[in-house]
Amino acid sequence: MVDLKSQYEKIKDTVNTSIQEVLDTNTYINGPQVHAFQKALEEYLDVKHVIPCANGTDALQIAMMGLGLEPGDEVITADFTFAATVEVIALLQLTPVLVDVDLYNMNISIDAIKKAITPKTKAIVPVHLFGRAANMEAIMAVANEYNLYVIEDNAQAIGANCKFSDGTKKKAGTIGHVGSTSFFPSKNLGCYGDGGAIFTNDDALAHQLRGIVNHGMYERYHHDVVGVNSRLDSIQAAVLNAKLPFLDQYGHARQEAARKYSAAFAGHKNIVAPTICGNCDCHVFHQYTLRIVDADRNGLMQHLLDKGIPCAIYYPIPLHSQKAYLDDRYKEEDFPVTNQLVKEVLSLPMHTELDDDQIKFITDSVLEFLASS
Ligand SMILES: *Cc1c(COP(=O)(O)O)cnc(C)c1O
Repeated sequence: MVDLKSQYEKIKDTVNTSIQEVLDTNTYINGPQVHAFQKALEEYLDVKHVIPCANGTDALQIAMMGLGLEPGDEVITADFTFAATVEVIALLQLTPVLVDVDLYNMNISIDAIKKAITPKTKAIVPVHLFGRAANMEAIMAVANEYNLYVIEDNAQAIGANCKFSDGTKKKAGTIGHVGSTSFFPSKNLGCYGDGGAIFTNDDALAHQLRGIVNHGMYERYHHDVVGVNSRLDSIQAAVLNAKLPFLDQYGHARQEAARKYSAAFAGHKNIVAPTICGNCDCHVFHQYTLRIVDADRNGLMQHLLDKGIPCAIYYPIPLHSQKAYLDDRYKEEDFPVTNQLVKEVLSLPMHTELDDDQIKFITDSVLEFLASS
């Protein structure tokens, strides 16, 4: 699904030099590379505070801890996402409230959010799924109306822009009260191990978060709040420093590959390809995900795998049907879109190194199966 090896070959010298500096200075934890990356990412995202941490799941958890959410508080999030999002809500003994998504962008449905709000609702967690920015303008309007926090799970969409009706753009992850991301190797900005970060424009919250990532310490050996140990190590920061300057270029390479895929599938009766807009960067294609309609999606997947083409179903089971998150309040009829998506979606290889021959082989193989079935 990804080709990290070819990508590394092209930036090998920069990455190696950057890592070597850490080895030469022996500052493995909290080295100057971590601080440099924090500053560079603040500038790239145009956000006041970046707090690096150990991974994207921690980032979400720490964001929720920083907001002071308490057991029993209801937190609304999407039914169609990776489990990390709902996992940390449950882990903090908050009450997850899963809601349906929209068919056109696979992101959390604004109507479903509104229907799920109760007097106990404290926060909304939109996920910018597959690299496409959620409708933050509408989400912020609902949040402001009901006085709710917004925590953006931006693990899949770093670099994507959210567009507003007044023509302005802001980076996904920097619009809500707090945002989180992951630098897992296959994410759009991936390091060579685990990594994550939290973003906010709120000075007081940033201070709170910096303590929580470090055992609740604001002054050495004074533990003011219950914290965690969640650090981005210097070697991962060194990799990220080498890669951040390429993030926009990488995003455009993904968009270019998506454009070629979609051109090959245009008008096909069994394929709904993701819509691609001009050059607003509202979708950075962490995944290129098709909907296969009125055709054998699983058969197609097997056909591609047999031909050596990696492909995957993100995600095969709605979160509301997962054992760990079953809840009597959920009714199947509340999740028509997620229930449909899990049967139709298929993600094709998507990364920065796809060439025309690979794309043609993949699209030909998809079309060949659908023509013969
Ligand atoms: C990857 C991912 C996470 C978790 O990130 P890790 O760094 O693997 O902990 C959280 N949310 C979403 C939507 C993700 O895709």
